[in-house]
Amino acid sequence: MSASEIYRRLGVRPVINAAGNFTRLGGSMPSERTLVAMAEASQHFVVIEELQRAVHARLAQVTSNEAAHVSAGAAAGLYLVTAAIVSRHCGKPIQELHWEEVHSTRVVVHAGCRCPYDWAVRQIGVDLVEAGDTDSPPEAGLQAMEAALDSSTAALLYVPAGWNAPGTPPFEQVAALARGHRVPLVVDAAAQIPPSSNLWGYTGAGAEVAVFSGGKGLRAPQSTGLVVGKEALMEWVDRLGFPHYGFGRMLKVGREEMIGLLNAVEELLAREDSDRLRWCEAQVQLIVDAFRGNDLIEVGRGFPNIAGQPLPYAAVHPRDRSIDPEWLVEALRTGDPSIAVGEIPGCSGYSDGFIVNTLALSEGEMPVVISSLERIIATQ
Ligand SMILES: *Cc1c(COP(=O)(O)O)cnc(C)c1O
Repeated sequence: MSASEIYRRLGVRPVINAAGNFTRLGGSMPSERTLVAMAEASQHFVVIEELQRAVHARLAQVTSNEAAHVSAGAAAGLYLVTAAIVSRHCGKPIQELHWEEVHSTRVVVHAGCRCPYDWAVRQIGVDLVEAGDTDSPPEAGLQAMEAALDSSTAALLYVPAGWNAPGTPPFEQVAALARGHRVPLVVDAAAQIPPSSNLWGYTGAGAEVAVFSGGKGLRAPQSTGLVVGKEALMEWVDRLGFPHYGFGRMLKVGREEMIGLLNAVEELLAREDSDRLRWCEAQVQLIVDAFRGNDLIEVGRGFPNIAGQPLPYAAVHPRDRSIDPEWLVEALRTGDPSIAVGEIPGCSGYSDGFIVNTLALSEGEMPVVISSLERIIATQ
């Protein structure tokens, strides 16, 4: 049965993903080799803790980190890391702490890094303290973060992303602040691959821990995440995490998923980021060329993408008032094949246009996007 038949027999339409590594579309696509490794892994029983020790040690080695841990997604990784931070800060595993001890532990974050994913940090019960504002210059934001640090501060949280609000202090400055005050820095780097060098870049610059999503640039199973960091904190992560009863028991990671993530990371590191960049540039060029001189829509190149990854995208804007971009997006979505596109960085909704993101596209899909767009605007 072909992949699309597996979905079609359920009445579910496969989608060409020109939006990006969106969890709601399936995240990313594991390679065939990764899938084969997962299938093989699933056909044998192993002692999970023995496998964890081996996979984690190997991941730490290939990513040049002191330690690594496969989590049940980046959000679950952040949740687990926060529990580890609080446990270390209070000197006891989180399940033995009183609510007041957890609640009086602070994690400081700049306002420009706030996002729906920080619920993974807040739901432990820590006091997530928002410092600074998005309108003031970054220097003021950094000062506000420094002023927010006190003896109950267990960590600083940073979320590097293309969507960071203006006024967000740069990562390097926050890392220097964390070093200067000896406060652990937690980096939610879920969508920060590529570049692959970020696997060691944040921790190399002094972050205590960095968390990546398996379902984005790593092309690992969507339900995985990769936590890398310093041994002293990662010991707590291992101790609280799956398969231990208590906190980590609900954050299950299967043996297939551990093997799948390890395989995906090894494949990523065996490839040059520049090969993917070249391929993405060629795809953007295809669609820019296809609509050059078109009366109805204008297609231009944008860089970097909305997540801040150094990859190009194509931005589609109407040239003619008769073209409603929201209608175009809907026509692409409901067309055959169904095509998902993304929002223009900085916009919410499609009233100004949309993007064709190269991030999650496969070979041969850009020509399909182009011909679908041509067909749809021809009916205008
Ligand atoms: C995608 C994302 C996450 C969640 O990653 P999952 O692996 O899907 O749990 C967390 N934080 C940020 C900034 C993200 O972009």
